[in-house]
Amino acid sequence: MSDHQPTIFDKILSGEIPSWKVYEDDHVFAFLDIGPLSDGHTLVISKERKAQLHQLSDESAAAIGRVLPRLCRAVLRATGATAYNVLQNNGAEAHQAVHHVHFHIIPKFGSEGLGVGWPAKRLADSTARELQEKIKKALEG
Ligand code: 5GP
Repeated sequence: MSDHQPTIFDKILSGEIPSWKVYEDDHVFAFLDIGPLSDGHTLVISKERKAQLHQLSDESAAAIGRVLPRLCRAVLRATGATAYNVLQNNGAEAHQAVHHVHFHIIPKFGSEGLGVGWPAKRLADSTARELQEKIKKALEG
């Protein structure tokens, strides 16, 4: 998916749809999730209209990376949480519902917050070697 269809987040960015904004700069906008998994569940989105993380410009990516830890600290301080997940979904198969780049900051309070399934396999040496080669080569391209 290279070209990004307008989503509900465009309307939030333009102010057409209201949101509980907590932060904004030239590249980044953050607001409370309307369907929180826990109190303080916050969405951090790019102003750049791209569906998935790998499509984001370096400038937008750097801006999000710069502010994300600060937003996490603020959510922790505001909620009293000491544990949290940062979640970033790409593609419907990976549970992305809104196709505009966003990070979730989700405080964890006991069982409240993000539930994670982690069906780990064992990494075989032959697979690792092949993948290492392929990823390094892809990084050069
Ligand atoms: P995704 O599954 O795409 O990673 O998550 C999208 C998130 O956007 C969901 O957690 C959902 O609750 C949130 N969301 C969807 N529509 C709205 C909206 O209109 N306002 C706000 N604040 N959050 C929304």
